Amino acid sequence: MDGMMFVGGQWRKSGGGESFQVKNPASGAVVGSVAKGTREDARSAIDSAREAFRKWSETPPIERSRALLKVAEMVRASVGPLAKSLVLEQGKPLGEAKSEIGSFANTFEYYAGLVGRERGAQTPLSTGEGYFIVTKRPIGVVGAILPWNFPVSLMGWKVAPGLAAGNTFVVKPASTTPLTDLMAAELLAKSGLPAGAVNVVTGPGGVVGQELLDNPGVGKIAFTGETDTGKKIMEGSAKHIKRLTLELGGSDPMIVCDDADLGLAVEGATWGRFRNCGQSCTSVKRLFLFESISEEFTKRLAEKVRSIRVGDGLQSGTHMGPMHTAEQRSKVEDMVEDAEARGAEPLVGGGRPGGPDLARGNFYSPTLLGGVDYDSRIATEECFGPALPVFEVKDLDEALERANDTPYGLGSSVWTSDLERAYSAAERIEAGTTWVNSPPISRAEVPFGGFKQSGFGRELGVEGLDYYYETKSIQVLEYEKGKKWGFPI
Ligand code: NDP
Repeated sequence: MDGMMFVGGQWRKSGGGESFQVKNPASGAVVGSVAKGTREDARSAIDSAREAFRKWSETPPIERSRALLKVAEMVRASVGPLAKSLVLEQGKPLGEAKSEIGSFANTFEYYAGLVGRERGAQTPLSTGEGYFIVTKRPIGVVGAILPWNFPVSLMGWKVAPGLAAGNTFVVKPASTTPLTDLMAAELLAKSGLPAGAVNVVTGPGGVVGQELLDNPGVGKIAFTGETDTGKKIMEGSAKHIKRLTLELGGSDPMIVCDDADLGLAVEGATWGRFRNCGQSCTSVKRLFLFESISEEFTKRLAEKVRSIRVGDGLQSGTHMGPMHTAEQRSKVEDMVEDAEARGAEPLVGGGRPGGPDLARGNFYSPTLLGGVDYDSRIATEECFGPALPVFEVKDLDEALERANDTPYGLGSSVWTSDLERAYSAAERIEAGTTWVNSPPISRAEVPFGGFKQSGFGRELGVEGLDYYYETKSIQVLEYEKGKKWGFPI
């Protein structure tokens, strides 16, 4: 598949004849190359998806469900090569990569179970003249624009519910992580979906992504990525009033109360911030500790963070891989420097790790920062990497006020042994999800999305399926011969 993309159920070169390389974030080594798609390539993929839509949208639900289950089965059977490819292009440790592939399969199994299970409504008209029926129809061709941090699971979040509802896809992976998405597309094609039901067009966002926005043949855009890009996508979708779901950035608060199980919360903070090298939309990005437990908690967390082994994701014993790109690392370095210039102290880390093995990759040490000023960039912007600012608060009111003081509203967590306190905090945190005594774990059955500038619409759950449908109302009046409608002639 070197230098190729996947369109109409086949491997293809770019019409422009160009390709581009994909590099390993742990070493800079080239791990593959893919087609540099043009607008014409994107148009051709949209045509394939439109052709496939005719067949797929009319495929009986039971067959759609079986095809989705087959996808899950084939993906699970190929977890080894898929996960290895994901590590090589993205950088995450192999265990995390396997779990991401598992999550892709799981999403397909979940939506396979929902196909054909939806119930409509038949309701009397308020005037008693008859009734109306509400039905759901697939939208058509969906353009899925993906980021690099979870290239495979986030493809599943879009493609699985979208196919379940009867839509077809043109997927635009992030330019730095196209390889495993292409492998997944080939498995999808082998699992009984019509050729062209899921096309993957690799190439620059400003070219391939722009064609998905501009082309009237695409009915919906499902996007995950940065909030600023999301704003452009929203503007671009306006021209044809495309349906839209946006999963954008976050600056998730984690609040640890004085009655929390500290051991559990230390584990949660470590997993929540340093998994995927801190590059998750719902990573813990601001830690708020009640004063009375702050010292003890910080000590225990620092010990744990010091023990994180940084390395190549394919090396056994690696806990945390490199950052995805040198640019992403520079952004985190700038934020840490800014915090330090305003008086913050690194409690752990605060720079690049040493050693010749790590020098070629985009590594950054797991970092904890104390004494952080609330105006620091690391507190006011999204920090998409392994650096965690720790703040002390006197009580829940202060924690919530600080937690909500952000344009983002994606995830959040509260740690306490008092359920009433947990509910009260969850109600008051302005975020799409609040985890209670748990790090941020997304599940196929739970709707996911953001408040405020973290997004628009929901993915996953029954709610996620609804975003791949148009709602159609059919009004049926009782037949009355000679009935007049009131127009005065
Ligand atoms: P970007 O927004 O830079 O890119 C996301 C995708 O959009 C890529 O495929 C990119 O293509 C494409 N793109 C870029 N510009 C355009 C354009 N003008 N028109 C159409 N498509 C375009 O995000 P990142 O990939 O850098 O992902 C990291 C960000 O995503 C973080 O801020 C993170 O918080 C957020 N995120 C949010 C999640 C959520 O669920 N809320 C989940 C994961 C990440 P190309 O690669 O070719 O530039």
